[in-house]
Amino acid sequence: MASITKRRRENVEGNFYVDDTCIDCDTCRWMAPETFHEDHDMSAVHHQPRTREEALSAAEALVACPTASIGVREKIPEIAEASASFPKLIADNVYHCGYHSEDSFGAASYLIVRESGNVLIDSPRFAGRLVTNIEKLGGVRTMLLTHKDDVADHAKYANKFGCERVMHAGDGARARGMERVIDGEDAIELDDELKIIPVPGHTRGSMVFLYKDEFLFTGDHLAFSRRLGHLYAFRGACWYSWTEVKRSVRKLADYRFRYVLPGHGAPFRGSFEEAEKQLGFCIEWMERNS
Ligand code: SF4
Repeated sequence: MASITKRRRENVEGNFYVDDTCIDCDTCRWMAPETFHEDHDMSAVHHQPRTREEALSAAEALVACPTASIGVREKIPEIAEASASFPKLIADNVYHCGYHSEDSFGAASYLIVRESGNVLIDSPRFAGRLVTNIEKLGGVRTMLLTHKDDVADHAKYANKFGCERVMHAGDGARARGMERVIDGEDAIELDDELKIIPVPGHTRGSMVFLYKDEFLFTGDHLAFSRRLGHLYAFRGACWYSWTEVKRSVRKLADYRFRYVLPGHGAPFRGSFEEAEKQLGFCIEWMERNS
């Protein structure tokens, strides 16, 4: 729970604030950019919410914050609404789970709700409210893990829902007791809607998942940068090989998608043509940042 005694002086006056336990994960800034921004390597409130819609977005960021670093001086009804709102629909049957975990450094996770069995992509915090809501949506049949950094409470979800966890051998899947281990670099059709695409680089065993040739779940491989204004890869947070990151990003030109839903960094949504252009910008940018 955020503490008013730890309130950062960089916040503007008003109800919402960020305290000094912020780990600078960026979540609140892409979820509610009208309220939160970066200031001295942490988040701060730069505008208090002016409308109910902005208050709800700020409340959703408060719920998603992995370290409970966002607080309010006085409770507002939007916080209860936000707590109950996750998983929150993005489009079609794809949801953002909210409730980010500090064990994944605040990475986002997603749920695909399908008649053939729901798919959880990376692990959110094992929070009671979220688990209940996922259960109401049909539970979890398969858990796809993009890479070793974003696994958080995977074991608790596996225990609760009896789901099959899928992870790459290059990120220690066997030692972690995963039910299905992916080897090598060939893309795999998990079923007629879902593809697994190994993309070594950020880590040796990083993978992205493509759903219905439309939604690309990218972990820490690819995200949208609000600062650069295009898709980018994490040059400063590359734990295995930048050369491999570049090669793996180029591989994605063979696929069609129009949503990029990352672990860290902002999501992207646009037309298929815009997504293709964005990938081109990213590849050019990576070449300039070799
Ligand atoms: S979501 Fe929380 S930890 Fe992440 S940047 Fe915002 S205040 Fe900091």
